[in-house]
Amino acid sequence: METLAILGGRPVRDKYLTYGRQAINEEDINSVVEVLKGDYLTTGPKVKEFEDAVAKYVNAKYAVAVCNGTAALHMACYAAGIKEGDEVIVSSLTFAASANCVLYCGGTPVFAEINKVTYNIDIEDIKRKITERTKAIIAVDYTGQPVNIDEIKEIAKEYNLIFIEDGAHSLGAEYKGIKVGTQADMTMFSFHPVKPITTGEGGIITTNNKEYYDRMLLFRSHGITRDYELMKENQGKWYYEQIDLGYNYRITDLQCALGISQIKKLDSFIARRRYIANIYNEAFSDLEEIVTPKEADFSNSGWHIYVIKLNNQKISCTRKEFFDAMIRENIGVNVHYMPVYLHPYYEKLGYKKGQCKEAEKLYDSIITLPLFPAMTDKDIEDVIKAVFKICNYYKSK
Ligand SMILES: *Cc1c(COP(=O)(O)O)cnc(C)c1O
Repeated sequence: METLAILGGRPVRDKYLTYGRQAINEEDINSVVEVLKGDYLTTGPKVKEFEDAVAKYVNAKYAVAVCNGTAALHMACYAAGIKEGDEVIVSSLTFAASANCVLYCGGTPVFAEINKVTYNIDIEDIKRKITERTKAIIAVDYTGQPVNIDEIKEIAKEYNLIFIEDGAHSLGAEYKGIKVGTQADMTMFSFHPVKPITTGEGGIITTNNKEYYDRMLLFRSHGITRDYELMKENQGKWYYEQIDLGYNYRITDLQCALGISQIKKLDSFIARRRYIANIYNEAFSDLEEIVTPKEADFSNSGWHIYVIKLNNQKISCTRKEFFDAMIRENIGVNVHYMPVYLHPYYEKLGYKKGQCKEAEKLYDSIITLPLFPAMTDKDIEDVIKAVFKICNYYKSK
């Protein structure tokens, strides 16, 4: 048996492999440089051009781009009218931003369990957690696999709730053959460097609802309008009015130029991600020490991340030991995510451990393997080698 690097053996590779990163080429660079030489660095023509490109890609009527995905979620909660006293049901196994956006509006996040097979939000638990005060559902397409959109829409219709899809992982993914981005009331995508495409920082909401669209435009820029129909008076051509409390959540033309160039390559990025996920699935199919990710029939995932689960019946190490061993083999791994309500801030707000037991149990045994379009075949091979090496060492006797 090979000695693990963490026990003094030779690592699977010499150079550290990161778990995720952007893919930038000359075309992307030139696209940004053109804007630098032009008239507008921000709020010029590139913003609308990028919004139109994303809207066209997902087949949505409207899109509003902002400075990051978290701001986009905040904007969606504002457009949905979330305010003090409102409850919003949120996936528990997600990045904090999916729930923070509710707090920004004065609302109360109510965390829902995960489905044990897909790790996405559990439909039955959504139903259990609906009260008189429930106003919306924020469901996360965890790892790039869409949530069960039709079932959530049915619940939303029955209880008159607004369905916001956190698609930070799922730009380019499909639900029943339809691209994510139009089926929920509003869908958020993030353009952080590890996400399906990047603008450095950036986010967007897509929707088919004109009312939400108008409210989001107002919110993005201080709550200021120049629309005569919305203003109390009109003093002249310079005149504008602030009619609500908004923010400066604008995105720059520089970022949007990068986005316009990136989205042209999205399909090839996704194809590469699916290819890599397939290779992992096949390589690990007989490896009893770990459980590979499962996809529902309705899903064609964008494979934002590849999450393995340790099979505690067959492996004798903890997640931390597995994680540390992978890092020492020079394979960058990560953990997505600790259930949001376990963070000390949420604990201070009164959220208690034990409210989503499946999510907590899963959190204890998951590890995210490297997956990004620019990975070479050799990189993929190294990841597989490291997983086998560690599984062999910690195999339960
Ligand atoms: C990345 C991410 C966000 C936030 O996006 P930012 O652009 O980083 O603000 C929200 N939800 C999930 C699930 C994410 O992965």
